[in-house]
Amino acid sequence: MEFGPLKVRLYGDPCLEAKSKPVKEVGPVERMLISAMFETMAAYKGVGLAAPQVGINEQIFVVDTGKETFVVVNPKIVKSVGHDVMEEGCLSIPRVLVDVKRAKTVWVEYIDAANRRVRAQLNGLVAKVFQHEYDHLQGKLILDYLNPRDRSKILSQLKNGSYVGKVLGDDDAYRTKI
Ligand SMILES: [Zn+2]
Repeated sequence: MEFGPLKVRLYGDPCLEAKSKPVKEVGPVERMLISAMFETMAAYKGVGLAAPQVGINEQIFVVDTGKETFVVVNPKIVKSVGHDVMEEGCLSIPRVLVDVKRAKTVWVEYIDAANRRVRAQLNGLVAKVFQHEYDHLQGKLILDYLNPRDRSKILSQLKNGSYVGKVLGDDDAYRTKI
């Protein structure tokens, strides 16, 4: 196991499109991974990071919205209410921003880094980040929210290197990269 910031896998890496496996128990190896994920998220100025983004297909993600910091293992979204649209970026798809429609409020269950069961009701940014990371564990990316025409346009631009994207300021980048 490596220490310190890990390399974030980019779009095209099969890890990002695979389903992640549940974790049996959070032990020393998982805790080491979690701490490396926090370092990686900080190094890349993200608000969230899922294990598949560092090449590990296990159901683990970390969140740091600036206000709240937590570790999520084996998450379930039990109930979702309302919806709105937020422009989201993804550390694994640099410079691409997608308007993603998600639930406003979610009721979630997971285990934390100490193997304790957690139930929570999430609203606002943290609810969006949770749903974005939950998608990563299912192998789903923000590109999957695009209509088929925009999706294939962006994918071919990414492939041939012609994608210009939007230029994010540092603050924006911190806000949206998940
Ligand atoms: Zn992402």
